[in-house]
Amino acid sequence: MLGSGLILIAAALVSALTLYRILRSPAAPGRLALVLSGLASIWWITVVIVRLNVDSLNLKVLLCELAWFGILGTPLFWAIGFLDYAGYTKAGQPKNFAMALMITAFGGVAALTNQYHQTIYTGITNIHRPSFSHGWLYFVLLAIIYVALAAASVAAIRKLKRSSGLHQLQFVGVLAAMALPWVANIAFNLFEFRILNDDPTPFAFAATSFIMLALQSKAKLFTLPPVARDVIFSILPDPVIVLDENNVILELNPAAESHAELGAKPVGKTLPLNHPLYNLSVCTPNKHPHPELVYLNNNTLIFEVSQRSLEQWDRKGCRLLVLRDVTARETAKQRLLAVGEDLQHRLEENLILQKRLEEEATRDHLTGLHNRRHASTAATALVECATPDEPTSLILFDLDFFKQINDRFGHDIGDQVLVAFAGLLKSSLKTGEMAVRQGGEEFLIVLPQCSTADALERTAHIRSEFAKLVIPGLEDFALNFSAGIAQAPDAGMTLTNCIKAADIALYRAKISGRNQDVVWGNHLKGMGGAPAPAPALQPNRVA
Ligand code: GH3
Ligand code: MG
Ligand code: MG
Repeated sequence: MLGSGLILIAAALVSALTLYRILRSPAAPGRLALVLSGLASIWWITVVIVRLNVDSLNLKVLLCELAWFGILGTPLFWAIGFLDYAGYTKAGQPKNFAMALMITAFGGVAALTNQYHQTIYTGITNIHRPSFSHGWLYFVLLAIIYVALAAASVAAIRKLKRSSGLHQLQFVGVLAAMALPWVANIAFNLFEFRILNDDPTPFAFAATSFIMLALQSKAKLFTLPPVARDVIFSILPDPVIVLDENNVILELNPAAESHAELGAKPVGKTLPLNHPLYNLSVCTPNKHPHPELVYLNNNTLIFEVSQRSLEQWDRKGCRLLVLRDVTARETAKQRLLAVGEDLQHRLEENLILQKRLEEEATRDHLTGLHNRRHASTAATALVECATPDEPTSLILFDLDFFKQINDRFGHDIGDQVLVAFAGLLKSSLKTGEMAVRQGGEEFLIVLPQCSTADALERTAHIRSEFAKLVIPGLEDFALNFSAGIAQAPDAGMTLTNCIKAADIALYRAKISGRNQDVVWGNHLKGMGGAPAPAPALQPNRVA
């Protein structure tokens, strides 16, 4: 009797110490419920201590009845407190407190008034301990206690599987501590197991308190609550959503509630068909799709959505969506792209302009032929590739009496003649040949693989075409030219030498009376025709 009393006094002290420790851990969730459970257990133990020390049967029975406030309050508040501590914050809602309080009060009052209804105890089976036969309410209340403790146990097991380090030790310890009252109570009710000839449950709760105290000092129970993950989840600025295989929203954090356009109280609802998240790629345990962009908040915010299958976390078919706000990044990217496109556009415009300028720099504006500067580089290769068997012919043209055209018919007509002559040259060219406006009314054509005879033939053809030209406003004027022909390699292997030679031949043609062709090499022999004095006026076209 004394022994059990001492043990129970020690238990009450340990419980009180545990209570003190809990109270000193303001960060511990479920603190209030755990304190209430501790108080209820102290009450229970105290009542048992008193009962062990009184002799009156009536008093003993009364104390047994009073114990019910502890029998019920201890496990019920324990379950609430522990669930809350383990991160099931909904357990700590006021309605659960009210429920536990009501059951405790109801059970206690029912026990105190048992003599009137006898639904808890139906009779005394042993007047010394005392022991009772039980009524239906006894079993109902017992079932409630077991359900509450079972819920807390399942929660602890689930948390244990996902925890590590000190938290794992905490849950293992708490499970062991919780198992003790279970085992003791079941043993007492089913097998009449007793400690010091009494109900072992309060002793077991004393042991529970002791284990809790040990956990508190060794595993930082109460001071290191395993709620960080839940806290992270709830304060994370990125929206996080858990969907099941049918796109039913299972969980989401406050950020998702405010940004993901899922409406009020979205948990348990199916993702709407037209929701931007509905069309994400399929996510399986083996295939995590690349992050995808979705537009939310009336298309004003851009989120990058990463998906993870929750299969390996025992949630088959479920997936976790983490949304990261990338609006700033994407806007900057788009702006950069636009700038890039603009730059590209300008670059292309510049290239076109540059090409046009280059082209214009190589062309003569009036006739469209290559200009002299361009010829100095482009025609060089045509001259340099000449061989005795495959000579390159250069024909230098100078329109006869051109100044008179200007003077008599106007500069515009003169221009038209130049353009028309250039057209004739151009249309006479074969592939690989080149026509150049040397300046004024002087033109050059460079003809690779062209013999003297061919060159003369070409000149004759051009001459006859030129003579046939009809230019409105240019009446009664015979269009003629003089031509000097030189050949690489005979006249030299450089463009300058060949042009010089052609010029000499042309001069010879001019001084020989114009409207004729002179080949360099023959020019001194007078083979281009005898020099003739230049007529003062171009003869009129023969009708
Ligand atoms: P010749 O038979 O000796 O070659 O006499 P010509 O009158 O043809 O030669 P000259 O060198 O005396 O005159 C050439 C004229 O060509 C002088 C110049 O005003 C004219 N001319 C030069 N370039 C252009 C042009 O682009 N357009 C026009 N309309 N005339 C030009
Ligand atoms: Mg001239
Ligand atoms: Mg001339």
